[in-house]
Amino acid sequence: MDEMKRTPTILDGIAIASQIKAEVATEVQALVTRGITPGLAVILVGESPASQIYVRTKVKTCGELGIFSEMITPPESITTDEMLVLVSALNAREDIDGILIQLPLPKHVDTKRLLEAVAPDKDVDGFHPVNVGRLQSGQPGLAPCTPAGIIEILRRSGLPVAGQNAVVVGRSDIVGKPTAVMLLNASATVTVCHSRTVDLGSFTREADLLVAAIGRAGFVTADMVKPGATLIDVGINRVTDAADVEKFFPGDPNRAAAFAKRGSVVVGDIHPAAFAVSGAYTPVPGGVGALTIAMLMQNTVTAAKLRRGISPGNK
Ligand code: NDP
Repeated sequence: MDEMKRTPTILDGIAIASQIKAEVATEVQALVTRGITPGLAVILVGESPASQIYVRTKVKTCGELGIFSEMITPPESITTDEMLVLVSALNAREDIDGILIQLPLPKHVDTKRLLEAVAPDKDVDGFHPVNVGRLQSGQPGLAPCTPAGIIEILRRSGLPVAGQNAVVVGRSDIVGKPTAVMLLNASATVTVCHSRTVDLGSFTREADLLVAAIGRAGFVTADMVKPGATLIDVGINRVTDAADVEKFFPGDPNRAAAFAKRGSVVVGDIHPAAFAVSGAYTPVPGGVGALTIAMLMQNTVTAAKLRRGISPGNK
């Protein structure tokens, strides 16, 4: 048995996101010289402070990269029909390449109907069934941002995917399923686990590449991980109990100070102690989450190109 102490590689999502954003800015400049300015419309319904922060960051990043952006802020009381009119106007606009509806929407609004109303070629979130189908069949299209970010982390870190035993825990339409499809398209051998999986550990322990998208703090523990595996932690869980903070980060003065200051710390779906047995891992925060906006920017530029018959690879 290999008892040698290994030092896992930290997969720095912030650095990779900066790299992608710099490349996107260059792509935008090249388009602008051809008279094309990519444009993103963001619809933010109501006054949720968390959603407002996300949307502001998206709009600010557009500005930094030279992408035109427009924020549309209907009141909480807007109806599904009124939203459909908004979306249809954006679908018809030549200067808008991407349409993003910030989720969650108020309960009285039919989210599914709205997401399906976005023109597939402007669906920068990659949630439209047409884009889900394109991803599945390996055609060019717009892939969901978080899974696309995972693939970029692996690719840019030079980590192998083809032939690897990949296990994805979580089967949501937004993260788990599209991640599994993208890993399969990259020739991994993929297993998808979920809440009905019997003996989860027996699957995760076989994983060379383990993706956790569960939504439960520190759920994947060290004994569930194959030594040397690559761990991709998608989870963003806010821990507000001091005892839990000590359980996840025993004797860590930085986390204790952060908790004392903010009353919470963020923990992924993988127990921090499991990272020590890995070969490489994405930290939380600063891992997968850092990529999401960069991939949205990339999708907006890809949409601008695809709509005009320019190959997305042609930078
Ligand atoms: P969902 O709640 O939609 O899906 C969670 C999945 O985990 C489900 O498929 C569920 O199974 C599975 N699951 C739940 N409990 C267990 C269990 N005990 N054993 C095995 N599987 C289980 O979450 P999302 O996919 O939207 O998000 C997952 C996490 O990723 C969250 O922490 C979220 O905050 C984070 N996230 C991070 C993003 C980022 O940018 N980094 C973006 C999006 C999400 P079942 O289907 O059977 O119910």
